[in-house]
Amino acid sequence: MKSSDPVDVLVIGGGPAGATVAAEAARAGASVIVAEKRTGDSPSRAGVIQPRVLELLDARGLMGRFRAAAAEWRPDFEVPIYMYAGLGGLRYDQLDSDFPYALILPQTTTEHLLRAWAVESGAEVRRGVRYAGHRAQGDLTAVDLVDEAGVTVTVETRYLVGADGARSHVRATAGIPFEGREITMTAMSVDADLSFPWAASMQMKRNEAGWILTYPFGVNTTRFIIVAEASRNVPTSVPVTEDEVRESLVAIFGSDLGFTTAHRMSRYGDAHKMVPRFREGNVFLVGEATRVHYPASGIGMNYCIQDAFNLGWKLGAVAVGAAPDSLLDTYQTERFPVLQKLMDDVDTQTSLHFDFSEGGLKLKDFLEQEIVPIPEVNAVLRDRLSGFGTRYPVVDGDHPAVGSRVGQIVLSGGGAYTQVAAESDFVFVEAPDSAVPRDLPSAFGYGTSTDLEGALGHADVVAALIRPDAYVAQAWTSAPTDAEIRTARERALGSSSAAVALEGAR
Ligand SMILES: Cc1cc2nc3c(=O)[nH]c(=O)nc-3n(C[C@H](O)[C@H](O)[C@H](O)COP(=O)(O)OP(=O)(O)OC[C@H]3O[C@@H](n4cnc5c(N)ncnc54)[C@H](O)[C@@H]3O)c2cc1C
Repeated sequence: MKSSDPVDVLVIGGGPAGATVAAEAARAGASVIVAEKRTGDSPSRAGVIQPRVLELLDARGLMGRFRAAAAEWRPDFEVPIYMYAGLGGLRYDQLDSDFPYALILPQTTTEHLLRAWAVESGAEVRRGVRYAGHRAQGDLTAVDLVDEAGVTVTVETRYLVGADGARSHVRATAGIPFEGREITMTAMSVDADLSFPWAASMQMKRNEAGWILTYPFGVNTTRFIIVAEASRNVPTSVPVTEDEVRESLVAIFGSDLGFTTAHRMSRYGDAHKMVPRFREGNVFLVGEATRVHYPASGIGMNYCIQDAFNLGWKLGAVAVGAAPDSLLDTYQTERFPVLQKLMDDVDTQTSLHFDFSEGGLKLKDFLEQEIVPIPEVNAVLRDRLSGFGTRYPVVDGDHPAVGSRVGQIVLSGGGAYTQVAAESDFVFVEAPDSAVPRDLPSAFGYGTSTDLEGALGHADVVAALIRPDAYVAQAWTSAPTDAEIRTARERALGSSSAAVALEGAR
């Protein structure tokens, strides 16, 4: 059966990456369908949201509901002192952000909130619908979706997005390779009842028997992430037992902590694979469909969501005719290097993290006590995890602020940049004393601020154009004309004539 009109964007998978890309494309005006094979929830793998994702959610007006959901889950849901490679002491509380913490929230709730946002933005989310294959059909892609009764509906789409996770079927059909290492070790994730629920915030223990991270995960539930020397070679296909958990707790923590029962136990591995490209024709991959790695320091989902923010607004802009198709290639040029770095970083973390030899443990004690506390070191490690270290490529001659992240900007009159961003696509912010009268089209959000130096970290910037995903598109050291601002937006949208005009204006 063929469904009626072609859709602009068909997203396979309604997990964190799929829901986010759908929301972003739909809010830009694209028609979007999400096909998700599950009717129920997936188990909560991720337990934390990192600071950069919190900033992005804030730029969509969503942080109120995320904080409310987290508060229902745990009263102390903010983690201001985080970890890197299993070493404590990462000072998120020193981040220059409205969100100087990791937020504890089960992935299931994160997914609910993101899907609800996708629907509010105009996307249609179909549950119980499985992707079964696709083929090119002229300029369109025909996609077979099978419902729970086994009925196949073929949907035509201009762009197909595979957000269907690590075992992506879309990736396989598109013929995009997935290269790297198979699993070399496994770990356990356990959500458990203790006779006395874990009262402390995040805590870690390590010794020659392994490493445990534990934190409260909902009312009366405690989450354990366990890497045990005794079982790290057990394959993921072997179920975790309560006895195994108890033995690991005793060996590493020195006590079973009053462990009674577990309501979820899983074993996961450290497979390390990535695609060489995100795009094949009009098919894109996003999130774990593009890579899989050990979930070191709770960053996997967070990078997936950041990828989705990058791709989503671009798909929307191209679908509504505001940008050429070539804009979509910048998803690769911007995010691919970020993900290569992430993969290297995970390798660095795990080789240190899971060395439980006498020398390895001594090295970790030394790093934790003497090196991680050095402010400059702490800042480097924070940048790796929080997402704050990401900077997109610029062209020669661009101001150093271009390509860098925008967090919060306090606007004159008491508002905030994120409030304007939630209602617009590009936002133009300038110093309040600009003598240029403004008559910008409604596509621009607008604000004035005396805080541009603090927000962007450059004393000479008097005006900035900010992309929909909260990175600086253009920065000026003297007030630009309206025509220059419009040209800068065109350039950020990938119009080559605009890029030439901007070069000429510099
Ligand atoms: C133990 C563990 C702990 C983790 N902890 C953290 C953490 O604290 N922080 C963090 O950032 N990350 C963490 N991660 C990683 C995180 O869970 C993943 O990075 C994240 O789920 C990837 O999101 P995604 O949307 O790309 O893919 P997925 O979450 O896998 O979503 C893919 C979706 O596609 C659907 N789907 C698949 N095939 C089809 C099909 N044929 N048709 C239709 N739908 C389909 C699936 O049902 C699913 O809903 C952890 C992972 C593990 C294993």
